[in-house]
Amino acid sequence: MSDTIFTKIINREIPAEIIYEDDSVLAFNDIAPQAPIHFLVIPKKPIATINDIEEEDREVMGHLYFVAAKIAKDQGFADEGYRVVMNCNKFGGQTVYHLHLHVLAGKPMGWPPYQDTLKVE
Ligand code: AMP
Repeated sequence: MSDTIFTKIINREIPAEIIYEDDSVLAFNDIAPQAPIHFLVIPKKPIATINDIEEEDREVMGHLYFVAAKIAKDQGFADEGYRVVMNCNKFGGQTVYHLHLHVLAGKPMGWPPYQDTLKVE
């Protein structure tokens, strides 16, 4: 898989507001926030999409959720609630092909999450 912008963030080749890092994951604020709080949690291993998760990735996939909840608790919005989203491929609205959890918080969110059908080519 070729490098995406997220690999460049991991390698500190481009800047990002990094809020958490350990051996296997990185979390940073989304550059175009869709809620008062919006950050991404990514594996350091560049897995392109949910469809590309391998047996060996089971641990890091669970760890993404553990870290999302840890940051939610640390930032004080865990009890209030939040949304965790992972988009997959074109119809899922994925734009960066390095798998990532979106964590959105700080306001009540409606359901279903879409307002209109995504326009895809
Ligand atoms: P998705 O559409 O699910 O693939 O989400 C990709 C997300 O990455 C979007 O919410 C973008 O705003 C975000 N994003 C793209 N480039 C950057 C960047 N350089 N720093 C932080 N977030 C970014």
